[in-house]
Amino acid sequence: MNISIERILALSDAFGPSGFEEDVVALLRTYFQDSQYELEEDRLRNLYVRKERKGALCVMLDAHTDEVGFMVQSLLPKGTMRLAPLGGWGSQFGSLRLAARNSRGDLIAGMVVSPPPHFEEARKGGDLSSVVFDVGASSIEEVKESYGLNLGSPLVPHVKSRFDEERGKFYGKAFDCRIGCAALVEILLALENKRTPFEIVGSFSSQEEVGHRGAIVAAQNVKPDIAITFEGAPADDTFPVDQVQCALGRGPMLRHMDRSMITHPRFQRFTLDIAQKEGICHQEAVRLGGGTNGAAIHLTKRGVPTIVIGIPVRYIHSGEGICALSDVEDAVKLALAVVENLTEDIVASF
Ligand SMILES: [Zn+2]
Repeated sequence: MNISIERILALSDAFGPSGFEEDVVALLRTYFQDSQYELEEDRLRNLYVRKERKGALCVMLDAHTDEVGFMVQSLLPKGTMRLAPLGGWGSQFGSLRLAARNSRGDLIAGMVVSPPPHFEEARKGGDLSSVVFDVGASSIEEVKESYGLNLGSPLVPHVKSRFDEERGKFYGKAFDCRIGCAALVEILLALENKRTPFEIVGSFSSQEEVGHRGAIVAAQNVKPDIAITFEGAPADDTFPVDQVQCALGRGPMLRHMDRSMITHPRFQRFTLDIAQKEGICHQEAVRLGGGTNGAAIHLTKRGVPTIVIGIPVRYIHSGEGICALSDVEDAVKLALAVVENLTEDIVASF
């Protein structure tokens, strides 16, 4: 299997916090420019990649384009800024390096700072209300005029991704869900000339991290009969937990449930059987937290059988994460095997 490393790195580096996904969408468009797919974008910046096939059952393949980030909430007199989160962050922000997009479209680097231990104000903790974002300015005027930043400026971690070829590991930001986007690009390109009884629609959805808002619109638009959603899933193999259910390098994670969806048991069984039969490395999980675009998709029409193929990523929703090439390969293999083995009768039996 020949997965494009370059695409994964470029997608990871692209600027795209929730609501500001246009760079990611523009990059994704370039991957399909020589294909036979039609590209369509809606007003929420959802990108649809499809080959229309009237009367056929529709398979929706989804991944979200946004990443967790921040928005400048207020400008402080000393030239620093308070931030509002876009999506769910943990509670520690010390020394997080961020890049803000200013009114001229430039990226301005800075960092989240808390008082050094030499000062009385130094507090333990460092949650978002006790830290500020600093680009090096000294007044509100300087922030606005020289840096071009103001209320509403969006930010993401200031990180350049890299690939360790020898060990097959990626390091970078936004693998939730750009690693899913990269897998979906591979799958759509692989399916382009395959014979299938279905209409295949790739949906690159916006604003998942703030409550799968893009997918709510996308699902109404696509009206799928069945759906697979790809995710960067939180790896749980480096912190003590009762049972490891999403380890790096052990293949895509198939969750039986999370807080947002009980995975369709018949479609899930079908997928697990295929993984078994084809010898595709995978892992199963039962999650008490978390949620995916499946939440929105499975509740449309008369109910849409939906599964989630999660690619393990260590430390999602923080400044930088780690994921493995072999897990991307297995996720792509599994999704292709599922689509190739589905028939109209099987979908009807779900
Ligand atoms: Zn995600």
